[in-house]
Amino acid sequence: MSDSSDAGDPGTDTLRTPIVAVLGHVDHGKTSLLDKVRGSAVIEGEAGAITQHIGATAVPLDVISDIAGSLVDPTDFDLPGLLFIDTPGHHSFTTLRSRGGALADIAILVVDVNDGFQPQTIEALDILKRTQTPFVVAANKVDTLPGWNPVEDAPIQQSMETQSDRVQQQLNQELYEIVGELSDHGFSADMYWQVRNFQQNVGVVPVSAMTGEGVPDLLTVMMGLAQRYMKEEMQVDVGGPGVGTVLEVKEEKGFGTTVDIVLYDGTIRADDVIVVGGENNPIVTEVRALLQPRPLAEIRTESRFEQVDEVMAAAGIKVAAPDLDEAMSGAPIRVVRDRPVEEVEREVRSELAEIAVETAEEGVVVKADTLGSLEAMANALEEAEIPIVRAEVGAVAPRDVSVASTADEDTHKTILAFNVDVLDDARRRIEESDVKVFESDVIYQLVEEYDEYVEEIEREQQETVLDNITRPARFQLLMDHTFRQNDPAVVGTEILSGTVKNNMNVVKFEGNEPTRVGQLKGIQENGEDVDEARAGSRVSLAIDGPTVGRQIEEGDELWIEIPEKHAKILEQELKEEIPMDEREALNQYLEKQRNRDPFWGK
Ligand code: GDP
Repeated sequence: MSDSSDAGDPGTDTLRTPIVAVLGHVDHGKTSLLDKVRGSAVIEGEAGAITQHIGATAVPLDVISDIAGSLVDPTDFDLPGLLFIDTPGHHSFTTLRSRGGALADIAILVVDVNDGFQPQTIEALDILKRTQTPFVVAANKVDTLPGWNPVEDAPIQQSMETQSDRVQQQLNQELYEIVGELSDHGFSADMYWQVRNFQQNVGVVPVSAMTGEGVPDLLTVMMGLAQRYMKEEMQVDVGGPGVGTVLEVKEEKGFGTTVDIVLYDGTIRADDVIVVGGENNPIVTEVRALLQPRPLAEIRTESRFEQVDEVMAAAGIKVAAPDLDEAMSGAPIRVVRDRPVEEVEREVRSELAEIAVETAEEGVVVKADTLGSLEAMANALEEAEIPIVRAEVGAVAPRDVSVASTADEDTHKTILAFNVDVLDDARRRIEESDVKVFESDVIYQLVEEYDEYVEEIEREQQETVLDNITRPARFQLLMDHTFRQNDPAVVGTEILSGTVKNNMNVVKFEGNEPTRVGQLKGIQENGEDVDEARAGSRVSLAIDGPTVGRQIEEGDELWIEIPEKHAKILEQELKEEIPMDEREALNQYLEKQRNRDPFWGK
């Protein structure tokens, strides 16, 4: 058994610390839970037992077993502890990508017991499913149930026993709702103490990040999950050349551009040559300093950081090196050491290629905060059948607006921005253009908003088209209802289908041969002038052009003339939008025209 966290003698058979991510909907308690774990660790552990990393906290096994008390027998475990990623939130989780999958080995999905499943819960669940990451659900805020009687830091079953029947019932009801939601999303789940096989079933752990109840259980379950199902993957060569993922690219006073990384394999040393995934090409550079947060007690010294010579996986560390300006969040970082640098460059290139998003000639512009989230966006858009013309990591910049504005289709003059800023000059250009930007930190909200926008645009387009298009109508001249012979002819008619409107041309078919006989110049219904008349109504029409008894006769069936182009649009794009009787009239009209010319309106 190893008794330290991520430190220890390098060796080929050392087990590395499993990496844990905390996910969930905003305000469900991710930060509080991490704080509680950290806080408990500080109280329970001896000074310095937990180590604060850059972007992560390592909790060694002995501290976990102290917190967990009777729940954990440390001799059951030989993994060194758990490394919690500190930046909670699913977008940072998607950043955490190792070759071929999520970087986090296991995850905690935090769900507020009262609030249940929310959009980001579902999104996190989708990510866990896609990356096949084992996880448990922390049903948080049990202390907020009315009548809850807190037992600080107690194992949850112990605490539950002290609750009144009513509170227990209430809690069970909320918990089974969560189990039901999980099942709706394809996960069979149960209270963690009922779960035998954590690979097949998701364990639900009731907790309170406020009172610490259930935290011992949560740590125990996480440790068990890692030990049982992750051990093989933890057998890495921690003495070998380091492999990691860039969490963040940051300007740091005195160091220039630095990268915060999570090292998930091997070691990195202060004199290593490294290759980092860059915006254009892999960056080959030499480590200038490896930086860790200075322990709180020494915070008064000048730098927030202290330099270390070597770090071993798993760990969060800041790497200072020249030429990191083009490094990307989510990109791979690899130590070269004793290998040809080209070989490592190739590895980094191929890793980047795996994450590369397929783009089309025409589509929307996508910007995201990290490579991982860009990939998640691309997946969601592909599922929604939305093409992408350009996909990049970084803030929305003026050139993104340029690309979006040159799209052929209005629906593609769009930028979907996931968790990134819009630069001021880009914002100005957007205001001056017809480009639309959607911003959100929930992927599926972005997709949904965009879909709604597309629907709205299509509706508007159809409406304007329909307004400007001549629509089919057919009417019959009634017998003995000629009020005036010509200039214009005024005749009583019945509208058989469609809607007649003023200024439309009127045609008569002799067999299949259409002849334009005149133009509608007035419609009267019950003695009143009207603009249009619908099928079924009897109206008198003034038709400029023909003379009754010569070009037109009482009893004739006449048609509104449809220009060929309009007929084509009606048939091909708007058929579903027009009423039945109009559709029927259109079909008859097309049939007559096509008897004469089979390609008419095609
Ligand atoms: P995050 O957005 O998921 O990181 O959520 P936070 O950790 O910031 O928590 C959101 C709010 O819920 C804060 O006001 C917390 O104090 C509160 N909160 C979190 N966990 C608990 C809990 O277990 N019990 C109670 N009563 N409040 C909690």
